Amino acid sequence: MSENAIFPGDKIASIEEYEAGNNAFDDGDMVRAATVGEKDIDKITRTVNVKHPKLLSIPKVGDIIIGTVVAVMSSMIAVSIDYINGKPTTSKVECVCGTRNLRIRNVALVNDIVTLKIINHLNGTIHASISEPNLGILFTKCRKCGGKVVPMRDAIKCTDCAWIDERKLSSNFGNSDFVNLRG
Ligand SMILES: [Zn+2]
Repeated sequence: MSENAIFPGDKIASIEEYEAGNNAFDDGDMVRAATVGEKDIDKITRTVNVKHPKLLSIPKVGDIIIGTVVAVMSSMIAVSIDYINGKPTTSKVECVCGTRNLRIRNVALVNDIVTLKIINHLNGTIHASISEPNLGILFTKCRKCGGKVVPMRDAIKCTDCAWIDERKLSSNFGNSDFVNLRG
């Protein structure tokens, strides 16, 4: 969120200057935010609105997202979006990504971190692609023991139990600091 980020109850304008618009209210003296979001002053209508981040956080076609795998099905994965084009989002929008064509046994595991490209919005569902080299898993663990894994040609190998597994790895696998970003 930008430096315009505001929180519920924050004073955003004087009622002498502006009326409360969307997601805002007046307390008889000040216009205050009713939700987390960004201040949006409309000087023409003299209203002040709060743009809710959920409205700002729907990725567009072509956007690159980083998210957390929340479900793995036989032909697709579902991902909760954490970053859109490198900007953090808190709205927990989900997208799905078809994996049938990859011919990889364990494309991703639940809780893996993955980067995807948004390809379309169909029937209210956001669809993403994983097939380009930079797309794929950024962080994963061993399926057997939860240990740290290292890439090995097209596979990964656990440094603890030596289990070898497949993933659709991003070309950025292993050289990203987003794990630190996530605390
Ligand atoms: Zn292991």
